[in-house]
Amino acid sequence: MPELPEVENTIRDLKPLLVGRRVQEVQILWPRLVHGKAPEAFAVELTGRQIVNTDRRGKYLLFPLDNGRTWVVHLRMTGQLHVVSAQEELERHVHALLTLDNGQQVRYRDARKFGRFYLVNGADEVTAQLGPEPLSETFTPLELFFRLQGRRNAVKTLLLDQRVVAGLGNIYADEALFKAGIDPRRPANTLTQADCNRLHTAIRQTLAAAIREGGSSLGGSSLTNYRRPIGVQGRFQQRHQVYQRAGQPCPVCGAAIERVKLGQRSTHFCPNCQRYEPPVVQSG
Ligand SMILES: [Zn+2]
Repeated sequence: MPELPEVENTIRDLKPLLVGRRVQEVQILWPRLVHGKAPEAFAVELTGRQIVNTDRRGKYLLFPLDNGRTWVVHLRMTGQLHVVSAQEELERHVHALLTLDNGQQVRYRDARKFGRFYLVNGADEVTAQLGPEPLSETFTPLELFFRLQGRRNAVKTLLLDQRVVAGLGNIYADEALFKAGIDPRRPANTLTQADCNRLHTAIRQTLAAAIREGGSSLGGSSLTNYRRPIGVQGRFQQRHQVYQRAGQPCPVCGAAIERVKLGQRSTHFCPNCQRYEPPVVQSG
């Protein structure tokens, strides 16, 4: 959290608020937020620059500047970007303030402090290792099949690997595998082309629906929960079929949803709809 749909909603909300605006003042309150350079140098370079566009790559937010450089933000676990009046009282856990030329202020809030800021010549410096964008033309069923071939890891674990496909996290990997009827523990190299076709469709449909619903906001405080820059929560959590529904009936067959640990991550699935029986190897 946040994953592709939450980052996409964040960037869509920020676009009209930031594009064309000039940064008048930069305050970094948590020095380690800035990756690879001194926070003072980051502040000096960003001050006076105009934000010319907003974009997204995987879970990274991209803000190209008028000097050809790009400000990149990764929210990681609990990062949030909000735009409020600079007069508004400072909330807890705000680690960076960018005052804009219209009196508004971009505030970066992050209770767990895993998020990072970058200032680079091109977004590639940060995102070069990422796999294809799941909603783009370059992500095809065949591409997914090739990327899972020869890998014996559990398919769920590979879906979380940003080098295989960019932007999926725990929620949407679980939901997409349920939609495709694929056991998350199944070795990736046992997936057939037909399985990959279903999985490809399920990934795209799940992400597109989640983007439409404003992403997922889970329980918990407003500090750790995803909130859009315009202050509202996502609604897609109401449509989760398996994620955080352990013990509840599967919406398709009624069997109890199970939860297991897979690569240190909680994994939710229906033991009936996502059944995998390895082919029987004939011997003799
Ligand atoms: Zn089921």
